[in-house]
Amino acid sequence: MYLVEVVAAILGTIKSRQMKKDLDNFLPVQEQFVLRQIRANENTQYGRDHQFGRIHSLADFRRLHPVTTYSHYAEYVERAENGDVNAILGKSKLVMMACSSGTTGKSKHIPISSEVQNTMLSMLAGLFALQPQIKSAYRPLYKEMQILCRPRWRYSPTGIPIGPLSGYFTNKSILLAQWSTPFEAHVVDTEAEAMYVSLLFGIRDRNLCRIEGGFASGLYNMLMFIETNWRDLVADVRSGRLKEGLDLTEEQRRVITKYLVADPQRADELENEFKKGFDGILSRIFPNLEAVSALSSGTSMALYKKKCLPYLGNVDLVSLMYGSSEAFMGINVRSAREEPAYALIPSMALVEFLPVDATGTPLEGATPLLATEVKVGELYEPVVTNWSGFYRYRLGDVVKVVDFFHQAPCVDFQFRAGQMLNVHMEKLSEEAFIAALQTAAGRWSGTTLLDFTSAESVLDPSPRPGAPYYLVFLELEKGEVTAEQLKTIDEVLCEQHFVYKSFRVKDSIAPMKVMTVKPGTFKAFRQFQFDTTTAFLGQFKQPRVLRNPKQVEFFMKHVNSQ
Ligand code: AMP
Repeated sequence: MYLVEVVAAILGTIKSRQMKKDLDNFLPVQEQFVLRQIRANENTQYGRDHQFGRIHSLADFRRLHPVTTYSHYAEYVERAENGDVNAILGKSKLVMMACSSGTTGKSKHIPISSEVQNTMLSMLAGLFALQPQIKSAYRPLYKEMQILCRPRWRYSPTGIPIGPLSGYFTNKSILLAQWSTPFEAHVVDTEAEAMYVSLLFGIRDRNLCRIEGGFASGLYNMLMFIETNWRDLVADVRSGRLKEGLDLTEEQRRVITKYLVADPQRADELENEFKKGFDGILSRIFPNLEAVSALSSGTSMALYKKKCLPYLGNVDLVSLMYGSSEAFMGINVRSAREEPAYALIPSMALVEFLPVDATGTPLEGATPLLATEVKVGELYEPVVTNWSGFYRYRLGDVVKVVDFFHQAPCVDFQFRAGQMLNVHMEKLSEEAFIAALQTAAGRWSGTTLLDFTSAESVLDPSPRPGAPYYLVFLELEKGEVTAEQLKTIDEVLCEQHFVYKSFRVKDSIAPMKVMTVKPGTFKAFRQFQFDTTTAFLGQFKQPRVLRNPKQVEFFMKHVNSQ
């Protein structure tokens, strides 16, 4: 572990020098990146179909190649999965298909080439060089905790693994050396058991220095799990055994137990702290904890982030990077106490910026801009060209340009385009809805809003006749709210959103149907998504607008009786 960390630090230092030069030379580096992809894939079927032979500059590329969405690649992806890798990739190998979350639609298969290792190395170097929290949390002999759930790989007819991109890295023992769960004990593929085992290895280590939570929603689940299961965890730290009743095979149990040691002293220490309550628990049980990281930008993670903070004590929550299965893009160059600013790294992907409005809809007649043409404060949809066969691809995210770092634009992720309610062309963004919801919930006493989702009335299984309306499902932490209180969401939205109000006044939109759901519904929904779609748990992001009747039915079944 020490060697891995030291070698990584040396490589990181070398690579990060290059990266800083690149940041001062942004557009030329972007052009080099694109031309490298074009030359490498010139003789693929895709390259021939799209005249790569005629592309010799960034300008040629932007003139000749169209802006694309996933459907543009579906046929090439299928050919590659069936053995014709040369349909997409020329010089590099196809190592896997990354399955993107599938929470907003049908899941996508994104080709991942062997270049992923270089990109990953650049990302790590970038974090090491540019991220203030990571720099200060460098402790080569201290461990880091992450919930490690083994992906359930699927395979294409020719044996190409299909799964979450993170699964590619958690298959490599060398990259897992610093994790508190021993590599060999990383054998569990069900969420509750993986959570238990990873937490057991994590909390027994007093010297843990970092916690990686994935998305803020994942970190929140982890904290809730500790709060509910701490007695069992402490008992197992004390005895060095694994409690009965976990859904594990004999073999999994044997492998995991091999690495457990009885530690009554640590168990006493943990028990004392848990008994004092959960405010600031992480910094009390891990006195050397330097940082907790979780991707927490944007409206959809805001609720979870707020819920996590009280557990952290004096440790900061940092959102390290902005990226997706399609491309790693930016590194947060600000400290954890500030709003994130993800500086785009020009050697990792070409990012163009499609100007969009507050709902994520492209402005009329707009075409993608280069990084040098964007303005601070404006909203854009990133259009990315990556290292494994996607070109000028609309990512579906909405980001705001918040700053510049050297010559690189810094963005902050806002929301997924299309996560909007639109029953009468009012195009209400997720951001506008959540603002109204939070204002209304802030006025209710004795209860806290835990989670929410919504849908358009077209999906209501027992629709009200007349004008369309929004269906809203809320999970509350304690207590109940009255029907009168629930009505305030509609009133606040009218106060805050002019277009919505104008349609409500005209009765073109009927009042919202707001329902509270039983405790644990949103957690159960994660499992439902996992069981019924190709989504992977670690990638799960609660959709704020449900588009699928089965999902709406799920929430309807969990509504509290009035
Ligand atoms: P996936 O490809 O399924 O792993 O998900 C990638 C998506 O996660 C991106 O397209 C964004 O919508 C979201 N995302 C990426 N970075 C962040 C971040 N720092 N904070 C919140 N959401 C993020």
